[in-house]
Parts: sequence; structure tokens; C-alpha cells
Amino acid sequence: MTVNVGVIGVGMIGQEHIRRLMTTVPGAKVVAVSDVDEARAREAASFLSGIQVYALGEDLILAREVEAVIVASWGPTHAAFVLAAIKAGKPVFCEKPLATTEADCSAILDAEAAFGRRLVQVGFMRRFDPQYLAMKETIRSGAIGAPLIFQSGHRNASVPAHYTGDMALTDTAVHDIDIGRFLLDDEPVAITVRAPRRNSRAGDVADPLMTLIDMRSGALVSIETSVHIAYGYDIRGEVIGESGTVSLADRSEVVVRTNGAFMGRVPPDWRERFAPAFDGEFRAFIAAAGEGRVAGPSAWDGYVATVTTLAGVKALKTGKRETIKLRHRPALYVSSPGASARGVD
Ligand code: NAP
Repeated sequence: MTVNVGVIGVGMIGQEHIRRLMTTVPGAKVVAVSDVDEARAREAASFLSGIQVYALGEDLILAREVEAVIVASWGPTHAAFVLAAIKAGKPVFCEKPLATTEADCSAILDAEAAFGRRLVQVGFMRRFDPQYLAMKETIRSGAIGAPLIFQSGHRNASVPAHYTGDMALTDTAVHDIDIGRFLLDDEPVAITVRAPRRNSRAGDVADPLMTLIDMRSGALVSIETSVHIAYGYDIRGEVIGESGTVSLADRSEVVVRTNGAFMGRVPPDWRERFAPAFDGEFRAFIAAAGEGRVAGPSAWDGYVATVTTLAGVKALKTGKRETIKLRHRPALYVSSPGASARGVD
């Protein structure tokens, strides 16, 4: 069975997603694209046959040939497209962030609840990464005892010119926040953010940052973001438990010993590091969409991530520990992290 997909936003990651859907995801066919820059949409479509180009994302969502929607446009535009897809009753994959305000995230939760079932998958691809899944399984098995601390390191060699101000929290740490919830099966209750001596390459970007999140169980999540670190794209992660630890292993295929040193390879960017995770998230989306449902990270996960990053932005400004207040979790999201152990709040 083939699922006909429409893609809104064909910038850097939108084009990457189209390529992936057409080459590595079974059962997916891109049939429509839309971008605020129509020339860019036409160019993206020119590499594919029989593809419709829509000037407006809303028209793509309503198009008869589109059975599932991918939103890969600029963050502030996500909420309107996701709400339109829910209204049309079509499964929608939304790149992070789900929305840039708490109110918009909440409106999406309400719309899904009113529809009666989940239609949204959020692009937290780390949940499909084999290494994080192995960490999660180790914790679940009880091998390291109860998890107490998750230490995450998120290092980018560099970031594009449009990356400014607080984006190390809203664009970068958002992935670590989500994977921390997933690994610990817990929810955030407070956040503190400190900016140490700034990287001289960072311009007006707050870089590096140290973020500390208090989880409901009392466990702590610490996140180091460094987005001008030059040497490569390096994702670190370790969970410290009561009786052991589990960490992401270095991924270099080989280790070279020469000139009195040994060296491995560090990936240049997220495309290479998380290629299996991106494959996995789209395989899951298309397989579920073929059955008229969605799987993977939910709108609730998108909501918690946005509320947490917004509290983090405030904490960076105030220098204080800021409380994270989450709304009541609708029953639709019982399988989200923190719900299984403690029930729906
Ligand atoms: P990008 O290169 O700027 O692409 C965004 C595209 O969407 C651009 O072509 C933009 O056009 C277009 N767009 C803006 N408003 C639109 C609208 N109303 N309707 C249709 N298209 C619209 O950005 P990107 O790096 O691909 O990022 C896109 C999204 O993916 C962001 O939310 C980002 O956070 C997310 N992302 C996720 C990951 C991940 O690891 N999961 C990695 C990278 C990016 P203009 O350029 O003309 O505005």
C-alpha cells in the first residue's frame, strides 16, 4: 500500500525528508509540495514526476491526492498547518517545534482530543536512534537500578547565520529535553540555565549553555549545548543509575593509532549522526499513516518540550530556577513518558 504525502516547507530539512521518503521509506510517495517561496517549491518538484505544487500549505492539506502531511517549514508556521491537518482528519508529521507558544501547543492538544484520536507525530527523531533505544532498554531492564541523573551533551561544529539568541535552547536543547523525558520516563518540573564564558565564535548566540532540569521523580537532567565547537557534531549522553551507568558509545568505525596518538572519526553534522533515526521516524509515520493512525512522539511530547524551552529562555534571562507548569494531560497521551509509571495526571 502506498501513502501519498504532501510536504510543506522545502528548505534544508524538507528537501532531506523528500529524498528520504522517495528513496528509503517503503510505501511512501511524495505527491505534493508547498513553500512560501514558490520558485523553491517548483525546483524541489522538478526532481520528481507527477508532483503538484501548491502556493499555500492550507490548499495542499485539503488536496484530494494528499493522504498524509509533513510540516517542515519555519517553526512559527507549524501550529496553523498542524491544526488544518487535524481538521482535515489527515495524519501529520510536524518537525520540531510543534509550535512556538504554549497557547498554540495547547490548541493542538485540544483539537486532537476533540477529533478523538491522535493524528500528530512530532519530529523528535532521537527516539528512533538505535543507541538511545539500547540505553532505554538497559534502564528498563533494571540493570543500572533506578535512573538518577541524565547528562546530555549536544555539540554542533557551527550553526547557520539565522541561528540567534536563545536558539541553543529552543532549537538545540529541545532534542535533549525530549530524549531525557523518554529515557527517564519522567516529566520536568523546574529549569535553571547558566551561560558560562562565551565561545569567541558565538557572536550574539548564548553559547555554550548549561541547563539543569528537575524532574518530577527528583532525578536531574543536565544539558550542555555548544554550537560553535568546530571539531564536529558530537552527541554525548549518560544515565547514572543507583547501581550502574549506561552511556552512548563513540561511533567511529575505526580507531587510528599514529604519531603517538589515537583517533576516531566524529560526524560532521546531524544528517549523518542521526540517519538511522530519521529513517526510523519516517518508517513509523508511513506505516501508521497507511493504517490511518500515527505513532511515535506525540503532540503532548511537543507541548512539554515547548513549555520547557520557554521556561528555559526565562530562566536564562532571570538567572533563577523557573517552575515548569504543565496542563492536565489528556487521556489520549497515556503512553507518553512519565505517564506509565504514575498514571495520567
Ligand atoms: P529552512 O531551511 O529555513 O526551511 C524552511 C522552509 O520553509 C523554507 O523554504 C521557508 O521559506 C519555508 N516556509 C516558511 N514559511 C512557510 C509557509 N508559511 N509555508 C510554506 N513554507 C514556508 O529551515 P530548516 O532548517 O529546513 O528547518 C525547518 C524546520 O525543521 C524547523 O522547524 C527546524 O527546527 C526543523 N529542523 C529539525 C531538525 C531535526 O533534527 N529534527 C533539523 C533541522 C531543522 P523561506 O526560507 O522563504 O522563509
